[in-house]
Amino acid sequence: MIFLDAAATTPVRREVLEAMWPYLSGEFGNPSSHHTLGEAAASALAAARATVAKVLGCRPGAVTFTSGGTEADNLAVKGIALARQAANPALNRVVISAVEHPAVEESARYLERFHGFTVDVVPVDSTGLVTPLALAAALRPETALVSIMYANNEVGTIQPVTELAELARTQGIPFHTDAVQAAGWLPLDVKALGVDALSISGHKLGAPKGCGVLFIRGRTRIEPLLHGGGQERGRRSGTENVAGAVGLATALTLAQAAQLQTAHHVTALRDGFIRDVLDAVPGAVLTGHPTERLPSVASFCFPGTSGESVLLELERQGVVCSSGSACAAGSDAPSPVLTALGIDAEVAQTAVRFSFESTVSGTDVAAAAEAVGAAVGSVRTLGRS
Ligand code: PLP
Repeated sequence: MIFLDAAATTPVRREVLEAMWPYLSGEFGNPSSHHTLGEAAASALAAARATVAKVLGCRPGAVTFTSGGTEADNLAVKGIALARQAANPALNRVVISAVEHPAVEESARYLERFHGFTVDVVPVDSTGLVTPLALAAALRPETALVSIMYANNEVGTIQPVTELAELARTQGIPFHTDAVQAAGWLPLDVKALGVDALSISGHKLGAPKGCGVLFIRGRTRIEPLLHGGGQERGRRSGTENVAGAVGLATALTLAQAAQLQTAHHVTALRDGFIRDVLDAVPGAVLTGHPTERLPSVASFCFPGTSGESVLLELERQGVVCSSGSACAAGSDAPSPVLTALGIDAEVAQTAVRFSFESTVSGTDVAAAAEAVGAAVGSVRTLGRS
């Protein structure tokens, strides 16, 4: 099987499993316990926090461990907006982009439904980019928070986060970015990015599912979503997932250490793949930005097919990929991300996303491109659209 669905999830790396194992076995303590087992767990958690902080270029106290990217996004969007509204009830608007993951979009909609917020959605251009001009037009004195993703999960477009965050900063508005897809592929220094909050998920980078991080800049006020024992400095109650935190810290360090080299290598393979697919499939359309895109993502529409039939045919040929985001898989509705890029709903139904692991080989990529040509050809011939 050739696995080209790494944007959905990745296998746990061996080094990560090895680092986690002690905290799933002998060192199984609760970090809040005042005995040696508890203290060992607390120091492992502290070390994991310091490791993540080093990668992000922040203080360890700015790192909150969560149950994944979804929780990190929920905590950032709801937590920051609600804290700001509590301090000043006039702050009742949030700004998001038209291509956010549902974890951000639905958090904003929750604020609208239950807390009197208005959601301002910034449009993207045909490549999926949010321009600083478009963001500037959406900012108001009542804006409590801006949340714009670092890189898109369906088309891979990378946003100019530094510029966008700077724009929000000049108006005193906190800026959150969902870096779930960017982590491991793009620089994560939060000072250089200028962001106030940033979400990461472990399972996209070789750690297990169910662990994530929210970076929250020191002075940013945030209302917790989970109340209880006051763990994570009161920001996220609940007994900490020590092994998950250790695994995420290990995976993040490994990914960041090899980031430049891996990004360069995978970008070259991806570009070759894009060329081969465009050559092999008449009428194929590359979606997203031609250059400002994640090294790992190549996304297309194949007019005259249905994305789902192409996926089935590809799987029969041993290539596993996705029709868009894993969260939307199985849904009949055209992807809101693709329609936000101005792609016709009918064409959007023909979308297929290929996303590479950092370890992907040139042979697999070349074989996959050939399989795509054959699969689309066969779906079109058989009229299975
Ligand atoms: N944000 C983006 C951009 C994602 O791609 C995903 C997962 O696909 C998430 C958030 C949610 O992360 P998790 O699966 O860890 O909840």
